[in-house]
Amino acid sequence: MSADGARAHVLILGGTTEARRLAEALTSDPAYRVTTSLAGRVSAPVLPPGEVRIGGFGGPGGLAAWITGHRVSHLVDATHPFAERMSFNAARAAALSGVPLLALRRPGWSPGPGDDWHFAGSLTEAAVRLPELGGRAFLTTGRMGLHTFAHLADTWFLVRSVDPPDPPVPPRLEVLLARGPFTLEDERELLARHRIDVLVTKDSGGCATAPKLTAAREAGIPVLVVRRPPVPEGVAAAESVAAALEWLTAARA
Ligand code: NAP
Repeated sequence: MSADGARAHVLILGGTTEARRLAEALTSDPAYRVTTSLAGRVSAPVLPPGEVRIGGFGGPGGLAAWITGHRVSHLVDATHPFAERMSFNAARAAALSGVPLLALRRPGWSPGPGDDWHFAGSLTEAAVRLPELGGRAFLTTGRMGLHTFAHLADTWFLVRSVDPPDPPVPPRLEVLLARGPFTLEDERELLARHRIDVLVTKDSGGCATAPKLTAAREAGIPVLVVRRPPVPEGVAAAESVAAALEWLTAARA
């Protein structure tokens, strides 16, 4: 089913590499009109090809109205696995507007031989568990949740983010402004130079494993992994851009 007679209009809820890759693939096909939506959290985002809109919709009702008003034919939730609210908004907006929805969600990570992983159900729980695991932490959970660790005065933190974090932040903190991807060599060097003894990460997933996880295993340091939040039930899901393209092809037939 197409939105303007010939072309399908795909709205991609973005903010991830997969969202950008999907936009790249779809814009090379004239059968699709593509709009990517970004939350506007990053000051200078890497923009995907196609149309881009930035900023919140004002909840599920606002998103549903945008979908109807812009004759969107397919909705793809390609937000980060930890963007919990937006995934539930997408499910509600799809139900309200009657537009088919696909969740493009990369598979999570699993520990392998030699890994010393510990799990937390949330950032708050990670902040409780962290002091028992190490005193020099490499925190890769993003600048938005940094306030959760702000009360940990005895832990030294290395935080890596694209934009500088806002207060409150932990008192003993070094911020490294950088945008990934990072190589295994980068991560090895970082852990050694800062004498890191614990890594904190969200289970963002992606490739089979991430260089920071491999570097932690090699260095013999524990990893505190924050588990993923719940996802809305009954939503079609794809784990890769290729699978999302197949879903779109089938949904248009
Ligand atoms: P969130 O808590 O699930 O969403 C909060 C609000 O931000 C939503 O209610 C929505 O506002 C707006 N929003 C979120 N994603 C949007 C999008 N793609 N387009 C337009 N509005 C959006 O989300 P979050 O965890 O703050 O993440 C924000 C963005 O950063 C997401 O696009 C996500 O893909 C990306 N990101 C998040 C993480 C992470 O760890 N959470 C990591 C990397 C990238 P309205 O209700 O007003 O529509």
